[in-house]
Amino acid sequence: MRIYLDHNATTPPREEVVEAMQRVLREAWGNPSSTHAEGAAARAAVERAREQVAGLVGCAPGEVLFTAGATEANNTALIGVLSGEPRHIVSSAVEHPSVEAALDALAARGWDVTRAPVDSDGRVVVEAAIDALRADTALVSLIWANNETGALQPVDGIAKAARERGILFHTDATQRVGKLPIDLSQTPADLLSLSAHKLNGPKGTGALVVREGVEFEPLLRGGPQENRRRGGTENVAGIVGLGEACALAVRELPERIARTAALRDRLWEGISQKVPGVRWNAAPEAVLPNTLSVGFEGVAGELLLQALDLAGVSASAGAACASGSIEPSPVLAAMGLSPAEARGTLRFSVGHGVDEAQIDHVLALLPDQVERARAAGDV
Ligand code: PMP
Repeated sequence: MRIYLDHNATTPPREEVVEAMQRVLREAWGNPSSTHAEGAAARAAVERAREQVAGLVGCAPGEVLFTAGATEANNTALIGVLSGEPRHIVSSAVEHPSVEAALDALAARGWDVTRAPVDSDGRVVVEAAIDALRADTALVSLIWANNETGALQPVDGIAKAARERGILFHTDATQRVGKLPIDLSQTPADLLSLSAHKLNGPKGTGALVVREGVEFEPLLRGGPQENRRRGGTENVAGIVGLGEACALAVRELPERIARTAALRDRLWEGISQKVPGVRWNAAPEAVLPNTLSVGFEGVAGELLLQALDLAGVSASAGAACASGSIEPSPVLAAMGLSPAEARGTLRFSVGHGVDEAQIDHVLALLPDQVERARAAGDV
């Protein structure tokens, strides 16, 4: 039996999602742009999913633009919206690579990019972000919940400050959607990215919420789909899977939050009691309920990760091994962790299918494995 504690990397599709996708592949396989009955059935499936996504985040269905995931949504929000004369953007030091890369591309075109620093819990300092706003700032882009640490950013305050100054606000909410509530009738965000596979939907499907009146240049040209905002025949089955995943999240959110937080806290309590020299890389009051980023002092994280994998447990590392050398995560580095501390960091993220018995199983084998990884040295 495997124990999958890597739900921030991807989640298993829910049975309801798989069934809805199979149904649409069998019964509504028409082209949504066709005007005949087959096309109309596919169109109805897409529009129903649009309502389901809108229902989860509190926007109008017409504001949901389907994409091939959050990477495309983030690129559209930055590159597509900022297509005019170079000005200034504010973002943070803890963004996902898909935002980072888009910021770099804009910088290469002459845009001035300010990356607001974060504190040791991975949170952007609100005053620093607001101080960075200038008369020529066109957009603020802030990750709502970090994929590596789960740290929650003070999006409401910074979005409000941006709105007051007439500056567009984008949030990469990929890790928050389906894990904590989002209500765009309360949060003044102009653009929001999300991805189906982070909330028990399929990979390769996501959405960019574009609030009424926000203009952008499509990244994909070549057809009138998505109200002329994204060319290409829609991924109907993927979109239906996303819609079903959102509908499930609407129904289950309070229970999900309580359940994942209890599992995550059980894991942390066990680790902190049984393993000396550990640190939780986040502020417990400002973190996703399902995420635990733990620093194990004196441990080569990649060794511990391998040992866990062999024992049937999937987690994720705080450093990536790129062509033989260990690259510490830029997110952990921005929080002030040393390369050795980043290397000793593992991320455990819980979700659907994880139960207490699995957490207890991990807690039974982890102390020994940490001890062995420490004895192996090489840090
Ligand atoms: N943003 C965040 C915060 C993410 O965690 C991810 C997925 N790792 C993405 C964007 C990219 O999403 P996708 O895999 O759908 O392209």
